[in-house]
Amino acid sequence: MNNFWIKIKNLRVNISEKEILKWINLNFEIWKNYCLLWKNWSGKSTLSSVLAWSPKYEVKSWEVEINWKNLFSLSPEDRSREWIFLSFQNVPEIHWIKLSEYLRTIYNVHLEWRLDNTWLKWWLSPFLFKRFVKKYLEELWIKEEFLDRDLNVGFSGWEKRKIEILQMKLIGPKYIILDEIDSWLDLDAFKTVATLLKSLDNKDNCIIVITHYFTILDYINIDKVYVLKDWVVEREWGKELVSEIKEKGFE
Ligand code: ADP
Ligand code: MG
Repeated sequence: MNNFWIKIKNLRVNISEKEILKWINLNFEIWKNYCLLWKNWSGKSTLSSVLAWSPKYEVKSWEVEINWKNLFSLSPEDRSREWIFLSFQNVPEIHWIKLSEYLRTIYNVHLEWRLDNTWLKWWLSPFLFKRFVKKYLEELWIKEEFLDRDLNVGFSGWEKRKIEILQMKLIGPKYIILDEIDSWLDLDAFKTVATLLKSLDNKDNCIIVITHYFTILDYINIDKVYVLKDWVVEREWGKELVSEIKEKGFE
């Protein structure tokens, strides 16, 4: 998998005529982990949403490559197929879709893609899926009755994060984009989420931590830190930069 990457060249993004991202240049290689340490309102959620696909934003330049393909020619579904997974800052609640059916569908679709299987349908039935997913529920301390609830509806911040981690376990994404997962969690919940995420880290995936906050860096092993200043990705040093910012602030 070593020559897979996301390459962002001169990315510009507007929202209703307002420039939000200007000339962003970044590379993410699949076997490394990254931290984008950007201050508040600098466009962290904009960048995450644009990579995963959001109709809200106007993309002004199109040179983003993923695994040798043009990212912007890919539908959200195709991006998922290229192994992008976005963990939202604000996880959406979706009525009328049962958690179990959602999980079963993404699991089956990804399995089909992975096996490149067009002739044999492997789809796990609701009954078999419930049996299969049980071990993950236990690992993540999720009660089985959650499966019958609507997707994230009324879940706490902590429960929503656990459901996202469950999704990652089921489909094994290669690019895991975490948009401020530190928000909405108390310290204990945060520690558990960070530890679970660390356990997902391997040489075959790329964790992209997007945050303005530092604590998660104590848990996830980061190879490269990108700091944004005056719209430009100014510095891309290693972890020593983090201690410098902790001391002196972003300016
Ligand atoms: P971050 O996640 O880093 O806090 P965002 O990506 O959410 O930043 O927002 C970046 C900038 O874009 C902010 O100045 C914000 O006010 C602006 N912005 C976000 N959404 C909209 C919108 N719907 N209309 C106008 N401006 C927006
Ligand atoms: Mg944000």
